[in-house]
Amino acid sequence: MSPKIKIKSRLEKLLAGLGEKGLDGILISQPENRRYLSGFDGSAGFLIITPNKNILATDSRYTAQAKSQAPEYEIFPITSDIEGWFPGLAAGLSIKRVGFEGEYITFSLYRRLCDILGKGKTVLKFVPVENMVEPLRAVKEPGEIELISQAAEIADAAMAHIREELHPGMTEREAAWEIEKFMREKGSQPLPFDIIVASGPNSALPHAQPSARAIQKGEPIVIDIGARVEGYSSDLSRTVCLGDPDDTFKKVYDTVLGAQLGTIAIVKPEMSGGEADQIARIIIEEGGYGEAFGHGLGHGVGLAVHEKPRLGSGSSDKLSDGMVFTIEPGIYIEGWGGVRIEDLVIMEKGKVRAISKAEK
Ligand code: ZN
Repeated sequence: MSPKIKIKSRLEKLLAGLGEKGLDGILISQPENRRYLSGFDGSAGFLIITPNKNILATDSRYTAQAKSQAPEYEIFPITSDIEGWFPGLAAGLSIKRVGFEGEYITFSLYRRLCDILGKGKTVLKFVPVENMVEPLRAVKEPGEIELISQAAEIADAAMAHIREELHPGMTEREAAWEIEKFMREKGSQPLPFDIIVASGPNSALPHAQPSARAIQKGEPIVIDIGARVEGYSSDLSRTVCLGDPDDTFKKVYDTVLGAQLGTIAIVKPEMSGGEADQIARIIIEEGGYGEAFGHGLGHGVGLAVHEKPRLGSGSSDKLSDGMVFTIEPGIYIEGWGGVRIEDLVIMEKGKVRAISKAEK
């Protein structure tokens, strides 16, 4: 964990939220939330956060790691399922009203939580809560911005590298592997998502898988990549063309670029994710491709590659200073292909600054 990551202030903010909801504590199981609030990046464990004590319950595979990564927490070794240890722990902490993450808990875990309540004379009450941690995660601290910027720098360098390497006859998979190797050698952790290299008609699919198709001259090639540094992701898309692009490419590309730059110039704090999306959508509609922009404008990026805020139709997430998100309009035409241009940006001092530096 970077020394710049401040767990204490995150916990203070969370506790204020618990107080408002009349909760004595909260049980955290969502992996990114668990990591955000503790620094522990193991793949199993629960946090029990109360005003007086923070507990990280995990099994023997992770106890040593938990001790070193989560100094704000008392480590509680577990050897059984939650129904075996939680009631005793809760009684010891004298907590009664406990929040849990309703959106992330599996049905099986929910059943087991219900079993705890059904057994014996417990005074425990479980309260489903949502968005207790995600809004905190959406506003980045300087240390987080630094890590995201490092991840963005690796992706920028990889994009420049693949633009040199791409040649007619190279397959999408070869290009994707070249990018992956490059980013790992430059220090990226395992990539946050599968690389997209989609050429020709494949580029009309926003989430195409790299195939054995050989890239040809004159067609659109959508490349969507991200690196990861100390858990923090980046996300970058460019659309390139080998040789001379056709007239459709020029028109579509200019429309997408206009929508992207126009949105970056106009988006400001207090706007909702839905309003930001609308700016790009209007520009694309005016270009005559309204129907061809099928996905949302963007998403927050941090410990998860898709997190709050959501920038898309109907999103009421309010944009504010400190938020890091993508602006990635696209136009997709079946049979021809697509163009997407995506930058990672940060809202600061009332306007948007691009973190991504890759050439457009
Ligand atoms: Zn994205």
